[in-house]
Amino acid sequence: MVTGGAGFIGSSFSREVKKPVIFDLLTYAGRLENLIGVDHIFVKGDIRNYSQLEDTVKKYDIKIIVNFSAETHVDRSINNAHIFLDTNVYGVVNLLEICRRYDTRLVQISTDEVYGEQENATEDFPLRPSSPYSASKASADMFILAYVRTYGVDAIIIRPSNNYGPRQHIEKLIPKTIVRTLLGLEIPIYGKGDQERDWIYVEDTAKVIAQLVETGKKGEIYNVPGGQRTTNIKLVEMIGELMGREPKIKFVKDRPGHDKKYSMVSTKLSYKVTPLKEGLSKTIKWYLENEWWWRPLLNDEYFLRETSW
Ligand code: NAD
Repeated sequence: MVTGGAGFIGSSFSREVKKPVIFDLLTYAGRLENLIGVDHIFVKGDIRNYSQLEDTVKKYDIKIIVNFSAETHVDRSINNAHIFLDTNVYGVVNLLEICRRYDTRLVQISTDEVYGEQENATEDFPLRPSSPYSASKASADMFILAYVRTYGVDAIIIRPSNNYGPRQHIEKLIPKTIVRTLLGLEIPIYGKGDQERDWIYVEDTAKVIAQLVETGKKGEIYNVPGGQRTTNIKLVEMIGELMGREPKIKFVKDRPGHDKKYSMVSTKLSYKVTPLKEGLSKTIKWYLENEWWWRPLLNDEYFLRETSW
């Protein structure tokens, strides 16, 4: 069962597995359109609702849950942390309770943001989250490790770095830059744009996760860095170059608590990643060819606003 399978990474992962049961609430971030071409069973449900989860796990005799469902936008978490606590923590505890009772395996998709600004973080680094979003993801990771130890639940934690690629909501930096550039709009850049992020193409992440679903060892944490670090400003300039258009950059007030960098390494895995320029070209091409997909999102307040604070 793929929870959050109608979102950005979850829908890419769902293309890597055979006929998944997709359990998704279809919030503003989840769309059935993301599953066009995927042979799947769809269940509209909420991970905050234990009985909906239980009914689905029993009905389809689910043995593995891969959890992508979450509130994922840091800016939104700064304005309203409560739903991040509900979905990202309480929802994960519900999943853990299911796994405990039904002997189901849990594969949790966490994030490099749980390490905060630490340099070259390995899987055993302390968690130092800075935003309400990353604090909620770090809390979920702690609950998972506690359930592994206390109840012997079979769970693993995967921490990918920043993902980019087709079907990412236009509230996020890369699609926002592509779409705003296409429309001739300004691109708001927080602070000086010197924050460093490590980018990985979504299909690469999906493949690594698919492998780990089979091979990941109970209680283990796996970092999945892209190994391609760049500053936000350089990234936006690179997108402009690849699009053959000058992006209209507008520097705006920095995000409160903004992490200067994310930097982690993997000590456990080796895999191939798409070079950043190649992945960005594919992503731009996808947004150019799929205006029908992003046009309905143009009124989203986090696409429209320069800052949210
Ligand atoms: P997304 O925002 O695109 O999708 C989230 C999905 O979860 C949506 O389909 C939404 O409908 C669903 N959802 C939300 N609340 C739900 C609930 N209560 N019950 C059931 N479904 C619910 O997210 P994404 O960018 O694909 O991220 C997926 C996961 O990967 C998240 O857990 C995120 O923390 C993690 N992650 C994302 C990135 C990234 O760069 N996008 C990087 C590292 C980790």
